[in-house]
Amino acid sequence: MKSCKLCPRMCGAQRGRLRGEGFCGCGTQPVISRAALHMWEEPVISGSGGSGTIFFSGCCLGCVFCQNYSISSELRGRTVTPEGLAEIMRELEKQGAHNISFVTGTHYAEAIIRALEIYRPQIPTVWNSGGYERVETLRALSDYIDIWLPDYKFALPAVAEKYAHAPDYPSVALEAIQFMCDSAGEKVIENGIMKRGVIVRHLVLPNNVRNSVAALRKISGELPRGTLVSIMSQYTPAGSISAFPELGRRLTSAEYEKVLDTADTLGIDGFRQELSSAAEEYVPAFDLTVPE
Ligand code: SF4
Repeated sequence: MKSCKLCPRMCGAQRGRLRGEGFCGCGTQPVISRAALHMWEEPVISGSGGSGTIFFSGCCLGCVFCQNYSISSELRGRTVTPEGLAEIMRELEKQGAHNISFVTGTHYAEAIIRALEIYRPQIPTVWNSGGYERVETLRALSDYIDIWLPDYKFALPAVAEKYAHAPDYPSVALEAIQFMCDSAGEKVIENGIMKRGVIVRHLVLPNNVRNSVAALRKISGELPRGTLVSIMSQYTPAGSISAFPELGRRLTSAEYEKVLDTADTLGIDGFRQELSSAAEEYVPAFDLTVPE
C-alpha cells in the first residue's frame, strides 16, 4: 500500500495495486478502457492516421457532466502492467499512429512513467488531461511528454465547486497549464501534425456562458501569447446531472456564438468545433479494445 499525493486532491490515501481509498478510488496499476487509433481530436493531433489514444479508467477530478462518465466513474477496464502498457504503445505506433495520447492518466502517472522508461515511442507523446494537476507530478512527466492537451474547464470557483467539488480548480489548473507552456516551449507543427506544444481545450457548457467568457479571458491574459485554444461545442447531457437541470440540454447557437465572439475579440487562435459536433457518437465505445 502506498500513500498518494499525485493530484491536487492530495488525499494522502492508501492505494493498493487494484484499489485505493482516495477520492479517485483507483489502485496504482493502470486500468484502461480503450486503446486504439482515434480520429476525433484536433486535426493537428489526429491527422489522417489517427492518434494512438489510451483511455484510462477513473478520474481525480470527477465532473458531474463527464462526457466519458462510464469510464471516469466506474473503474471498468483492463488492468495493465507498465510492461503491458509499453507493448500497447509499441502496437499503436506500428499501426501508424501520429502520437501516443494518454487520456486522464494523472492518477496512474507513476506507472505511465515506468512504461515510458521501458519503451519510448519514436512518435510524440500527448498528455490529455482535465487540467487539474500538481506541478510536481507534471515535472516528473515532463521529460517524457511532448504535447500537452489540458482542459481549462472552469474559471469561476463557484462553478468548479458545484460541478467538480474543486473550488481551487481555476487557479490550480492555470498554474499547471503555465508549467506545460514552459515545458513545451515554442510549438512545432510539421506537415500539419503537431510534434511539440500545448493546446488548451475548453468545453462550453449550457447556461454557463459567463464561465466560458471568464475562462477565455484568463487564458488570454495569463498564458503566453499565441497559445492554441480548442473551443468545444460537443457537450451532450451525460453523467450524473439530475441535480443540475441547467445541464440537461445541449448548447444553443446563441450561447456558442457569444463564446466565439469573445475568443475573436481576445484574438485567441486555435480550433473551434462546429455546433453540429454535439453528438453522442463523438464519445468512443469504451469496449476494452486494445491492439492485439
Ligand atoms: S490520485 Fe487519487 S488517491 Fe491520489 S491524491 Fe489524487 S484522488 Fe487522491
